[in-house]
Amino acid sequence: MPPDLRPGLAGLPPEAVAAWFAERGHPSFRARQLNDALWAGGATSAASIRTLPTTVRAEIDATFSLDTVADTEIRLGDGNLTEKALHRLADGALIESVLMHYPARRTADGQQRERHTVCISSQAGCAVGCPFCATGELGFGRDLTTAEIVDQVRAAARRLRTHARRLTNVVFMGMGEPLLNLDRVLEAVSALSDPGRFGLGARHITVSTSGVVPGIRRLTALGPQFTLAVSLHAARDPLRDVLVPLNRRWPVAEVVAAARDHARVTGRRISYEVTLIDGVNDTEADGDALAGLLRGDLCHVNLIPMNPVAHTPWTASPMERIERIAARLRRDGLAVTIRRNRGQEVGAACGQLAAERAGEPAAPVVARRRELLVMRSAAALGGERLTEPPEAGLAAALAANRDRTPAVGPVVATVD
Ligand code: SF4
Repeated sequence: MPPDLRPGLAGLPPEAVAAWFAERGHPSFRARQLNDALWAGGATSAASIRTLPTTVRAEIDATFSLDTVADTEIRLGDGNLTEKALHRLADGALIESVLMHYPARRTADGQQRERHTVCISSQAGCAVGCPFCATGELGFGRDLTTAEIVDQVRAAARRLRTHARRLTNVVFMGMGEPLLNLDRVLEAVSALSDPGRFGLGARHITVSTSGVVPGIRRLTALGPQFTLAVSLHAARDPLRDVLVPLNRRWPVAEVVAAARDHARVTGRRISYEVTLIDGVNDTEADGDALAGLLRGDLCHVNLIPMNPVAHTPWTASPMERIERIAARLRRDGLAVTIRRNRGQEVGAACGQLAAERAGEPAAPVVARRRELLVMRSAAALGGERLTEPPEAGLAAALAANRDRTPAVGPVVATVD
C-alpha cells in the first residue's frame, strides 16, 4: 500500500482549520464541529463524525489524516499498570509510547488521586546515542510531525476513556531528544495545553532534555510553559561524556547553569533524572559530585535504576547503593525520589520494542560495542576525558538544528 501522505489534522492550529473551511465556502461552525469531534470526541476518522454532512466528511478524509498513529500494537505489563504501545507511522517508522497507571494512595498529607501518565516520543530514533538506551543504539530516523506527537497522547486518552478515566500527565521522555525537534514539540505542547483543544494544564506536561543548552535557553526566553527535566546521569564530565555523548558538546556545568537560569526566570523547579548503573555512576564520588553540582538549586532529583537493555555490559545499581546516594543528596538539602522501573517484561525502556523489530545486530558488532563501553567507562572512572568528537550522526543532527529558523518566540542562543 502506498504511504499515507495526508497531513495529520491534530497538528494544525485552529486558525488553519478555520481557513481551510472558509476557502471551501463552508460556514465557520463546521470548523468548530470538526474541532469538537477531534479533541473532545477523540475522532479517528472523518467518516465517524455524524455532525458533519457526508460531502464535508469526504473532503476532510481526502485532505487530512485524523490518526497518524493508527497502526498500533499494545503490550501490557506490571499487572496491567503499564501499557507499552508500538506505533507504526505512515512511512513505516516505528515509535513507542508508554501509558502508566498509578493507583490512588493515602499519603501523610491526605489522599492522592490516581494518575495516568503517558510517556511519548518526539523523534523516530535518536542521534544522541546514550549507550544505556535502546533508542540510542537504533540511531536517528527522523523528527516526528506535530500531529504524530499529539496523536500518541490522543491514542492513550482514548484507551483511558473506554475505562471512564482521564489522562493526567504527559512526559516527553520517550524516543528522541525533544529539544532537537523543538518547534514541533512546542506546537504539540500548545495543542495539548490549549483549553479549546486537548486542554491539559501545562503544569501536567514535562519535557525532558539530555542537555541541549541553546534549546533550554530558548525555553527560558519563552517563559514558564511546562516542567523541564534534564537527564543528568553523571555530574562529572569524563563519565557524562560516555553516558550522554552530547556532553562533549555542552559540558555538564553549562547544562546545569542553563537549567538554573531557567528555574530562576520561570520560578519552576527543574527535575533532574539520574539513571544509576552498577559500578559505573553510583559511587560515593558520584554522590558527592552530584550534591556539589546541585546544592541550593530549585530542583528535584529522580534516581532511577537502569532498565536492562540488550547489548550493554551494564546492569542496574543495587537498591542499597541507590538509597545511599539518595541519603547523600538529602544531607545537602536536595529533594530526591527513588523511582522504580516500569514494565520491564514488556520492554518499557525507551526504544526496546522498536529495537526488537529492527532485528539483532551481528554478534561481532555487539561484542565491539560492549568492549568499547567497558573501555570508555573504565577510562572515565579514572578521570580521563574522551578526545574523539561526537559520532557522525550526532554531529549531523546538531548541524541540522543550527540551520533551522525557530517558528515560535525569540532565540537567545543558537547551536553552533
Ligand atoms: S536516553 Fe534519550 S537522548 Fe539518550 S539516546 Fe535515548 S532517547 Fe536519545
